[in-house]
Amino acid sequence: LAKVVEEDVEKCAVTRNGERVHIFLNAGLSADTSIAVNRGVDGVGLYRTEVPFLLQRSFPSEEEQTQQYRAILDTYQGKPVVMRTLDIGGDKPLPYLTIEEDNPFLGWRGIRFTLDHPEIFLIQVRAMLRASIGIDNMDILLPMISGIAELDESLALIERAYIEVAKAAEAQGLTLRRPRVGIMIEVPSMLYQLSGLTSRVDFISVGSNDLTQYLLAVDRNNSRVAGVYDALHPAVIHALKYIVDTSKHIGLPVSLCGELAGDPVGALLLVGMGYRSLSMNTRNVAKIKYMLRHVSIEEMEQLVDYALTATFADEIRAKATAFVDSHG
Ligand code: PEP
Ligand code: MG
Repeated sequence: LAKVVEEDVEKCAVTRNGERVHIFLNAGLSADTSIAVNRGVDGVGLYRTEVPFLLQRSFPSEEEQTQQYRAILDTYQGKPVVMRTLDIGGDKPLPYLTIEEDNPFLGWRGIRFTLDHPEIFLIQVRAMLRASIGIDNMDILLPMISGIAELDESLALIERAYIEVAKAAEAQGLTLRRPRVGIMIEVPSMLYQLSGLTSRVDFISVGSNDLTQYLLAVDRNNSRVAGVYDALHPAVIHALKYIVDTSKHIGLPVSLCGELAGDPVGALLLVGMGYRSLSMNTRNVAKIKYMLRHVSIEEMEQLVDYALTATFADEIRAKATAFVDSHG
C-alpha cells in the first residue's frame, strides 16, 4: 500500500466489483475539516465535541458552541455531520472539572456525566440545533449508552431542546429540521438490546475502540496490558459481525467509527462482514479508498469466513496482512 494513487483521493470508494462503501471522517479539530472536504469523503461520521471543550478554560457558552458547530456544518453543506454529545471522563478529563475515581473508564463518563448534568447537555444540544438551522445536515450521536433507560432520558432532553430551538426559529420565520439521533455501540451490554433501538434511534455507530476495551476488560491506554488490547481478538470479530448482521435484520443503519475502520486490515474485515459505512481519521482516507478499489467483496467475505473460525487474533492478523500485502 505504499503507492497510494493521488487521483483516487477525490473519487468515492468503490470495491473492484463495483460495491460502494461510504467513507466518513472522524473530526474534532477545525484544522481537519478543509483537508477532508477536498478528499472526497461522504461526510463526518464522528465529530468529537469534547475537543473544543478541552481547548477552553471553562465550559464554552451556548453561543460559543453554536459558532464552532456551525463552522463544521457549513464546511460540509449537503453532507451529513454526526455530532457526538460530550464524551468526557475516562481518558478525556476536562482541566476545569476534577473527577477523581478509582476506575475512570468504568465511571462517570460520556452520557452518564451529561445525564447527571442536564444543563450541560441541554446547552450543547441547543447549540447543535441552532447551528444546524438552514444547513440541515446535523445528526446527533450519544456516547457510552449502556441501556435503554439512558437512551430514553437522553431522547427526552433532546426533544425538549428541539422544541425550544424550533419555537425560537419559528418566531424568526425559520424552520428547524428534526435531527436524526443515533447511539454509539461501545458498551457490550448494548449487543443484547439492539432490537429495542429500532423504534427509538435512526442509526447506530460502533465504537470499536471502547467496545474492544470493555469486551476484553483491558484499559485501552495502559501500555502494560497493550498486548491484551486487540481489536482482532476473535471475540471482538464475532461481536462486530453480530452487530452488522443484527442491524441489517432489524433495519437499522450502521456504521463504524473506531480506529479499526482506518486500518487496512480492519477495513477489509469490516467490509467483508457487511459494513458499508466507515468513519476514520483524515490521514487514512486515501489509503483505505485505494485498497478497497483493488479488492472484491467476495475476497473480503472469504477473509471474514476464515476470521470467524480462527482461535487466535494472530492468525487473523497474519492472513489479513498477507492479503493486504498481495494487493498493494
Ligand atoms: C470508540 O470508542 O471507538 C470511539 C470512536 O470513540 P472514542 O475513541 O472517542 O472513545
Ligand atoms: Mg468511545
